[in-house]
Amino acid sequence: MKKLVLLGSTGTIGRNTLDIVRRNPDAFRTVGLAAGTNRDLLLAQIREFRPAFVSVGKAEDAAFLRGELGGRKPRIFFGPEGAEAVVAETDGDIVVSAITGFNGLRPTLAAVRAGKTIALANKESMVAAGALLRREAKKSGAVFVPVDSEHSGVFQCLAGRKSEEVRSVILTASGGPFLHTPIRELRRKTLAEALSHPRWKMGRKVTIDSATMMNKGLELLEAHWLFDLAPDRLRILIHPQSIVHALVELRDGSVLAQLSRTDMRIPIQYALTFPERRDGPLPSLDLAAVGVLEFITPDERRFPLLRTARRVLGEKDSAAVGMNAANEIAVEAFIEGRLDFTGIGRTVEATLAGLRPRQLESIGDIVDEDRRVRERARRVIKKRT
Ligand code: MG
Repeated sequence: MKKLVLLGSTGTIGRNTLDIVRRNPDAFRTVGLAAGTNRDLLLAQIREFRPAFVSVGKAEDAAFLRGELGGRKPRIFFGPEGAEAVVAETDGDIVVSAITGFNGLRPTLAAVRAGKTIALANKESMVAAGALLRREAKKSGAVFVPVDSEHSGVFQCLAGRKSEEVRSVILTASGGPFLHTPIRELRRKTLAEALSHPRWKMGRKVTIDSATMMNKGLELLEAHWLFDLAPDRLRILIHPQSIVHALVELRDGSVLAQLSRTDMRIPIQYALTFPERRDGPLPSLDLAAVGVLEFITPDERRFPLLRTARRVLGEKDSAAVGMNAANEIAVEAFIEGRLDFTGIGRTVEATLAGLRPRQLESIGDIVDEDRRVRERARRVIKKRT
């Protein structure tokens, strides 16, 4: 029986994770849950899974949960340090890191320092602090198992293979809803259009990131840190069917691919059961029904943030922190209607222009840089509108 701590329990990854737990009651026990603002769903999750430790965003929501639960309640933390407290208090074997954005970094770092197995869905923490997380994992013995579908695919194809056997790694991307939109029309694309992803059902942040393909840019950096791959060995291919999640080309020219139905429960389950496999929740992949698998080279004029990410991949730490911070602010502004769709990429570029990339050593340095760039991005957006 593996003990699970789930950070970000009410989001898409969190809910899918609990579905896997629900289907495998003999394999997993949930000992900690951390959520943000969705207190009603968190309450239902506490009642169903009975964790010993819980955290929620606000003090008033913690009071609400205490009031509703009565009798034998879990210990409930709140506020920005709540998720870290859950990690520190529980004796979980696996920490599922599924908080969205830079906010997931501190709790992920806490899990790394505690030497846990980390099922990583929060790519932004690896983007912003990959060097630090790897350094700390080496010290503590923490292990990362990817939840992101592409990285799970890479992980499964690599299966412990030596780095010198690998010529290149290819992450696939669906291309999002605007793959065939004329470029000059992108500016007018609405939030609703950007949120209607053709293949995956995901949270808002990652869905917008998919529409700009920043998501794949972030995943390039995530793959770089997770698998210790030099930038020139990492590639991206658009694959609209989202059946092949990753390809690994070996030095002799053989190419391995990981295929599965487009459902996050498959990579989530593997992250939880690794190195074992269990029966999955879905029927077999029907390739004859899919029929055709297409692959397309991404157009960086359509998806300029891919070029930004590729550049940042070759620069020092602070560039990645900055790219991620500027993107989070720009996506938020787009969601709130303060920025048009192509403004996301332009804001990220304008924010990064003039910042000189430098090495960042500590979590304090990273948090300071993140805050500084967020302010800068907000000023850039204000000036544009
Ligand atoms: Mg992904």
